[in-house]
Amino acid sequence: MFNKILVANRGEIACRVIKSAQGMGIKAVAVYSDADRYSPHTLIADEAIHIGESPAQSSYLDKEKIISAMKQTGAEAVHPGYGFLSENSDFAREVEKNNFIFIGPPSSAIDSMGDKISSKKIAEEAGVSIVPGFLGEISDEKQGAKIASDIGFPILIKASAGGGGKGMRVVGSESDLKQSLISSQNEAEKSFGDKRVFIEKYITNPRHIEIQVIADKFGNCLYLGERECSIQRRNQKVIEEAPSAFLDSQLRKKMGEQAVSLAKAVNYSSAGTVEFIVDEEKNFYFLEMNTRLQVEHPVTELVTGLDLVELMIKVAFGEQLKLSQEEITLKGWALESRIYAEDPYRNFLPSTGRLTKFKPPQETSCGDKVIRNDCGVNEGGEISIYYDPMISKLCSWGKTREEAISFMQAALDEYQIEGIGQNIPFLHSVYRNQDFCAGNISTAFIENNYPEGFKGEALTEEERSKLAALVTFAYHTKDSRDQAISGRLDPFQENADGEYAIKFEDQWLSTKVQKHDDEQIVNVDDLELRFVTSWKPGDTLIKAEFNKNTIVARLRFQDQGIAVEYRGSLNTVVVCNEYEKELFKFIKEPEVIDTSKFLLCPMPGLLVSMGVNEGDAIEEGQILCSVEAMKMENVFRAEKKGIVKKVNAAAGDSLAVDDIIIEFE
Ligand code: ADP
Ligand code: ADP
Ligand code: MG
Repeated sequence: MFNKILVANRGEIACRVIKSAQGMGIKAVAVYSDADRYSPHTLIADEAIHIGESPAQSSYLDKEKIISAMKQTGAEAVHPGYGFLSENSDFAREVEKNNFIFIGPPSSAIDSMGDKISSKKIAEEAGVSIVPGFLGEISDEKQGAKIASDIGFPILIKASAGGGGKGMRVVGSESDLKQSLISSQNEAEKSFGDKRVFIEKYITNPRHIEIQVIADKFGNCLYLGERECSIQRRNQKVIEEAPSAFLDSQLRKKMGEQAVSLAKAVNYSSAGTVEFIVDEEKNFYFLEMNTRLQVEHPVTELVTGLDLVELMIKVAFGEQLKLSQEEITLKGWALESRIYAEDPYRNFLPSTGRLTKFKPPQETSCGDKVIRNDCGVNEGGEISIYYDPMISKLCSWGKTREEAISFMQAALDEYQIEGIGQNIPFLHSVYRNQDFCAGNISTAFIENNYPEGFKGEALTEEERSKLAALVTFAYHTKDSRDQAISGRLDPFQENADGEYAIKFEDQWLSTKVQKHDDEQIVNVDDLELRFVTSWKPGDTLIKAEFNKNTIVARLRFQDQGIAVEYRGSLNTVVVCNEYEKELFKFIKEPEVIDTSKFLLCPMPGLLVSMGVNEGDAIEEGQILCSVEAMKMENVFRAEKKGIVKKVNAAAGDSLAVDDIIIEFE
């Protein structure tokens, strides 16, 4: 086996690869940029080499620097993780030219599968079913219109060199074709330096289901079941699971065998993923093959019991796969939630900054339950603008899908992240959704269920009563303790009797904390609620057991009460007494400041381009400017027609949150 390998990546995936290598007795070398000097992957590796400045171009994407780090440390092979150089065939060739081993497929397979037009051609020849369409470049509108009318609207225009959803345009009718064709070509040219686009049938409400394959260098290739990744936002996966509730063993076998036959057609070795979309009638169509370890590979590991990184390393070293297809069995159900640094309440804008608190839930792996958290950040670390915004991948495994969901919810309850925005409330919201729980999902799930964006979950009656009891209890406990500190005596002593008036979701409730021993008793209007908790002032999370039913909520004390967060809901609860409650009538509603005359920068980022000048008359929907943050370009459009009064920023400017970019008349 290898003595030493280098991991050409960062973050959670670098940590994950390093751990498997070390578990096999292989030394692992990390590489890091300026921004990652103290990142976990740098710290857990056996050696770490600095390879340059923070922008990926000057570090993680610099082939020369990575190869010279291999020479310097004597690493024999390199694992590229995902993203960065993982699907770069020039890098794979360069590695081999220097007599090192690339832990991934042959460069020729990367090339064949890297281009969507050519990969679809190969797939078709290998007997794989492909989306109806035209397998060639679309040169002009006339040709496009002919093909579109042959296959029937709606159609999808895609960039041949595409990835990350870039360049894709859904076209519903011929009148939109020309404009979409041009904008798709432009985006493809800009993103990939290759403006070739093609057309395929747009499948409505499809499911994204992909097959994991693993192949050795002796022609053995196996499929390791499927993953369903239908929960996507803007073509980015958010929640993945294995197996898929939509497949039966027959369909699984059929898709698995087609995936293997495609892999064999390009002499594949290593781990790879063949992506399909599946329509409502269970017809499945090949989308693309990802020639690397996939972000969501842990769910496959959880249901197969295999370590994919270990298999990749062994196969790269030249070992033969010891498994046969019959030995691959899928056990139980696994889910993965991608925890992103983004603010779900502000249209999922990327969020950057320091992790002032980072306490993931406890990982466990007992017989009936697994919680796994792949992460590459530390408390005190920074989520920077340079790399992708994924903080961690939280996975759960249970015997059934229901169990996996409930383990996931409990793990998310305990996840504590402060200092930056994160999408845990949104993830909670999906896990509460009845369609999700019933397995009725499609790639349109998020669009259909959150047409106005994410606004927070509403609580059930029962949840609200329980949270009202917990908020009252926490407030009373803290207040009683504060009273005992000299100099902090409350001049009114009004709540010595434990009676409160609280305002929860615009409704006033009367609550009362009773004298207690082990069990807490709180009255909420006419209800008497009993629970056990070990909460004490200073704790952010309150965990309480109501007759075997556990609730974990997050509390933040504020001037007038407590903000309470629970499973996707966020409420600011006012806590006072009956007398103060009467005074609330006299408090004026806060004035809403009119910001409609400004374009404010919603996140820290770089102004890439400014589309308007002072004095311009603008139309609704017109592009105003674009700001890049965390690898994503965010285009801002005019919400209504108007006139540009002042432009406060120019291309190249670094912007902070709420900086005024444009003023309107
Ligand atoms: P996978 O297919 O392995 O799940 P994705 O298709 O979600 O991965 O993402 C493909 C690549 O895009 C990944 O290699 C990852 O580095 C990058 N990526 C993932 N999420 C984002 C994001 N929100 N913004 C920019 N890049 C991303
Ligand atoms: P990328 O390389 O950008 O990942 P893919 O071809 O893998 O592009 O497609 C990304 C996502 O776009 C899929 O997961 C699916 O949700 C959607 N998609 C792709 N092709 C189609 C299609 N023909 N019809 C409907 N949705 C599609
Ligand atoms: Mg894809």
